[in-house]
Amino acid sequence: MAGTTRGRRRKAIIVGGGIGGLATAVAFHRRGWQVEVLERAPAFTEAGAGLSIQPNGLRALDALGLGDRLRADGPADPPAGIRGSHGDWLIRNDVDGLKRRFGPWATVHRAALVALLRAAVPPEALRPGVDVRGVRPDGTVHHGGGASAADLVVGADGVHSVTRRSLWPELPGPRYVGYTTWRLIAPPQLVEGSAETWGRGERFGHVPMPDGRVYCYAMANAPAGSRIGLAELRERFARWHAPIPALLASADEKTVLQHDTYELPKLPAYVRGNVAVLGDAAHAMTPNLGQGACQALEDAVTLAHAVDTLGVRAGLAAYDGARRPRTQLIVRRSRQAGAAAHWTSTPLTTLRDALLPRLPNALFARSLTPAYDWRL
Ligand SMILES: Cc1cc2nc3c(=O)[nH]c(=O)nc-3n(C[C@H](O)[C@H](O)[C@H](O)COP(=O)(O)OP(=O)(O)OC[C@H]3O[C@@H](n4cnc5c(N)ncnc54)[C@H](O)[C@@H]3O)c2cc1C
Repeated sequence: MAGTTRGRRRKAIIVGGGIGGLATAVAFHRRGWQVEVLERAPAFTEAGAGLSIQPNGLRALDALGLGDRLRADGPADPPAGIRGSHGDWLIRNDVDGLKRRFGPWATVHRAALVALLRAAVPPEALRPGVDVRGVRPDGTVHHGGGASAADLVVGADGVHSVTRRSLWPELPGPRYVGYTTWRLIAPPQLVEGSAETWGRGERFGHVPMPDGRVYCYAMANAPAGSRIGLAELRERFARWHAPIPALLASADEKTVLQHDTYELPKLPAYVRGNVAVLGDAAHAMTPNLGQGACQALEDAVTLAHAVDTLGVRAGLAAYDGARRPRTQLIVRRSRQAGAAAHWTSTPLTTLRDALLPRLPNALFARSLTPAYDWRL
């Protein structure tokens, strides 16, 4: 029977109960494994911001039996493109063509996706308030409550992963990419699809949510650790095209989240002994392609499929072989996709704004194909 070895039910301990960790728990639970999710926070939830789930992420959710829920609750169009700060289109996506070619998109509140995943895990498997301090390659996990062991340990503990640091203490940690990011939810209002706008060293994006609210994000070059509030954001974007000033004017300071943006240098492996890392713990990337959570979902279903089918050691090797090249390619593409938005020189940004509208649409669609075209 799947999930058992010599009649004993196999067990996976998952460190971290974010989107990647909960998806991993669902994937193994569906295959008959006993799962335990150790989460340092006092509850399994996520702070308030939106999330785009792209066609590949939806297909990964299909493997968990949850894709159709998101397609029904949060159907969305692909992004309409990229505009200049006066509203002129620099890149205009063929929205219908993208949908025909790759399938639907969805937009969801992060907390709603976490709730959907959490509900698919048995409640007794969820252990909030457990801070993991170290993980050994043999599958032993040290935490505030003592130590636990399992056939498989999965480090899904995010960009500053303790699991990763335990397994590869010699490797460099995440690198600040030079820009900080704000996320906020504006109250319900009419906006025309989702789009991103580029200025000089800063940009703004908005995505309508299924309930009429608008998920907004902004990024700006800044030293790590700078703290900039809503009043300054309104000032920065006051002369940009509609609806940007109105979205910021209607926002409530309480909904604004600011985080510096980090990227993880390439890891030489995603597995060691009986342990795997996935999601941001393995390949934290810039948010430029909106692929971080989608890749974590792909990781989760691939890992469960490989380990359940091939056994722990061979399955982990297969997972590493399937996921490392793909995710490291997407990390690179994501970095490149946002680079030109953060140029600050006037001659360079003028050239950028003149050249981008002349490039053929097909070029952009082709550059997105590796991300969207995934199947388990
Ligand atoms: C501005 C922005 C916009 C984005 N937009 C998108 C988008 O539209 N689409 C998309 O697909 N992706 C997007 N992403 C990326 C996405 O948010 C992340 O890639 C994704 O949330 C990673 O999930 P994760 O589960 O790997 O890590 P996390 O969400 O970081 O979860 C890690 C969990 O582990 C817990 N933890 C950490 N350390 C310990 C410990 N020692 N012991 C126990 N628990 C621990 C944490 O509390 C947390 O709950 C965006 C990212 C940013 C910054």
